[in-house]
Amino acid sequence: MKIKPNITSKSLDKKYGKHKDECGFASFLSREDAALKVKIRNSNWSVILGDTQDCVLEGNLGMCCYMQNELHIAKNAKKDMRVETFYHELSHAILAESHYNVIIKEYLGDKYELFVSNLGDVIQNMNWENVKKISKEI
Ligand SMILES: [Zn+2]
Repeated sequence: MKIKPNITSKSLDKKYGKHKDECGFASFLSREDAALKVKIRNSNWSVILGDTQDCVLEGNLGMCCYMQNELHIAKNAKKDMRVETFYHELSHAILAESHYNVIIKEYLGDKYELFVSNLGDVIQNMNWENVKKISKEI
């Protein structure tokens, strides 16, 4: 998928909904119960497919819960949208693990979500096999 230059922060809000910094409550699903996990640095993040109308997603397609290390994705969204949302939420988690998320968010302001989406696009379309191959060969 190519980066969409015509995408705006407003359209992102419409697409993903407003993103909260924190979910604000303990998840109903413990991290141990989640089948899908992704390790970022030394932290395990759970990927949880939930209903758009549940108490975490609240009508959004995705949610990154920083305190709980959880990426929530709306299971009722179409496959390509679930994948795109996963990379978007994964990018939030990567930024959080970089310890610069808050600074980047404050600096970018209303362009932050666009940045996160573009970063997700880059990560999704990276040729990881080639990167790993080069890492071994250099
Ligand atoms: Zn977001």
